[in-house]
Amino acid sequence: MKTLLPTSTAGSLPKPAWLAQPETLWSPWKLEGDELIDGKNDALRIALQEQRLAGIDIVSDGEQTRQHFVTTFIEHLSGVDFEKRQTVKIRDRYDASVPTVVGPVSRQKSVFVEDAKFLRSQTDKPIKWALPGPMTMIDTLYDDHYKSREKLAWEFAKILNQEAKELEAAGVDIIQFDEPAFNVFFDEVNDWGIAALERAIEGLKCETAVHICYGYGIKANTDWKKTLGSEWRQYEEAFPKLQKSNIDIISLECHNSHVPIDLLALIRGKKVMVGAIDVATNTIETPEEVANTLRKALEFVDADKLYPCTNCGMAPLSREVARGKLAALSAGAKLVRQELLAKKSA
Ligand SMILES: [Zn+2]
Repeated sequence: MKTLLPTSTAGSLPKPAWLAQPETLWSPWKLEGDELIDGKNDALRIALQEQRLAGIDIVSDGEQTRQHFVTTFIEHLSGVDFEKRQTVKIRDRYDASVPTVVGPVSRQKSVFVEDAKFLRSQTDKPIKWALPGPMTMIDTLYDDHYKSREKLAWEFAKILNQEAKELEAAGVDIIQFDEPAFNVFFDEVNDWGIAALERAIEGLKCETAVHICYGYGIKANTDWKKTLGSEWRQYEEAFPKLQKSNIDIISLECHNSHVPIDLLALIRGKKVMVGAIDVATNTIETPEEVANTLRKALEFVDADKLYPCTNCGMAPLSREVARGKLAALSAGAKLVRQELLAKKSA
């Protein structure tokens, strides 16, 4: 990738109101059958156009074809009973009614490959595709079969690897695994979480990313953040092992967070998607605010490895706010890009 400081988003963008209820997670579809298929494709076209108009360099589908970043993937697998629900605590934080693993899990057919091919057909820009990470998947289920978080994560890693290989063949440039659970279960991350992630990317030639954040701007997450104190050092736990892993890119929440930016020194050598847009507020950042976050990150990340990004997905925001934030991200990155180029030619 030749562009200096290429911009991208963590993944999701708001859906149009005719497709699903806006500003809602797990929002049910408003269409069905062929109309739903057409509607999802049209929404993907719009999400792509919004990114193009904002000048985003690495584009995504805005996750327009999925209801939720974890559940939709699991829905396509066998071995999971969606009728049999149990209440569990997700990420040690909030109760949710989740489906049950009742037998061996497997992928009968590809989940997102047709959607990725469609996105590929719509743009020449580099595309990034998000999948849930193995640890985050097991944390969104009740396991009545394997009775081992590690075993189930390993099975999911194998399934994710099958899907990722097909996404790569469909022309996806970066495959990203969303692992917010890495910020919570530190012992498991180091025991088997990163190993499972590496199993999921085994044999891939395209670039790979892991997205680790403090979650969408929903109340359960913002309440949790209030308990974390003035310095958020969660990243410190996984970084040393991630630095040694085969993952190419690490996507992080850096803007308005209490993450000490010098923690980035622990992943020196990796490419870093630096979250410079807060998704938990409707206030739109100024380009200068975005630039400030990027400048701080540049003290610990080489310029050719820095990818300006959003803190997390923007699905729960209004379309207007999301549009403003995309533009701010682009404008902020441009400011820093100009500074870097001026320094180079000076
Ligand atoms: Zn996130």
